[in-house]
Amino acid sequence: MPAGACPEHTAGCVRSPWPPNHGFASLRAAFAILNQAKSVLMAHRVVRTVPALRRTVMQWRMAGERIALVPTMGALHAGHLALVRAARRRARRIVVSIFVNPPQFAPHEDFGSYPRRLAADLAALADFPVDLVWAPSAEVMYPAGFASRIVPEGPATAGLEDRFRPHFFAGVATVVGKLLIQCTPDFAMFGEKDYQQLKVVTRLARDLDLPVTIIPVATVREHDGLALSSRNSYLTPIERAAAPTLHRVLVRCAGEIARGQLLARVLDEGGAEIERAGFALDYLEARHADTLKAIAARKDGPIRLLVAARIGKTRLIDNIAVSSGKVGKGPQRRGS
Ligand code: AMP
Repeated sequence: MPAGACPEHTAGCVRSPWPPNHGFASLRAAFAILNQAKSVLMAHRVVRTVPALRRTVMQWRMAGERIALVPTMGALHAGHLALVRAARRRARRIVVSIFVNPPQFAPHEDFGSYPRRLAADLAALADFPVDLVWAPSAEVMYPAGFASRIVPEGPATAGLEDRFRPHFFAGVATVVGKLLIQCTPDFAMFGEKDYQQLKVVTRLARDLDLPVTIIPVATVREHDGLALSSRNSYLTPIERAAAPTLHRVLVRCAGEIARGQLLARVLDEGGAEIERAGFALDYLEARHADTLKAIAARKDGPIRLLVAARIGKTRLIDNIAVSSGKVGKGPQRRGS
């Protein structure tokens, strides 16, 4: 009998910390049933029409339950899941929306190739206390005859993303406005990863008197500092190896500015390092952390450094706070 073979059972039944083979079979069957049940439950949680969404949300409201919305375009990663966790801390009910929003992509951008993996997204959410996945089609979100648009100003015209993606914030503001009206959440979670977007959405909610609090969530990063993004999957291995340069440069620049070095020189050197790593730089800028207005010196802060750069076919963005001298929490890493 080979080492580890099980004396009580048939040949090939190897002793292990697990139950014997017939136990395995029943365990497997039990898992299969559990998985099926999970898919059925998950399928029930996906809502695709506005009336169905409203019915559920209305029931929660009548029960006096707080609701948090996590808007996403899917291809979920640990950054999105951090938003779900933050939602959980605020509200009893969580809605995750998954919608790749056509109007925020220009014709030459990656709407067609943007990763869409609803089944994997639902599986990723299965371990989280998400009550409902709001996954409308483009026809439900923008039915025939749709003719309205929210065109934000203020932070949306700060000369950062808007300079390179002029269509972007009207697309974002319109869909976020719709999502907030459809879901009527008490809280909506947005990542600091898309810092200008966070400011645009916060302004939008205030300007339209929407009864929602926008909650910023810190950027989740890979262990080498690269901010998680659905678009990281476009990177070739060589590009992926260069990609952490963005965060490294941001950290270095933030440190030098905090130590009082001349802002313009620090940013020039940072930009040059990013280009040496193989990127085409769209911008590396120091802005007021609240208004996003340009600033020339540290004393005009609080400062946020923001960067956007292209490598191969991929455009990456990132940002970081410049310390005002107070001790803050370090960046959130994947799995931390
Ligand atoms: P997206 O699906 O890319 O539109 O992102 C949906 C939300 O997740 C936005 O509020 C993003 O800012 C946020 N998000 C994306 N990546 C990250 C990240 N690495 N860390 C934290 N939040 C993120």
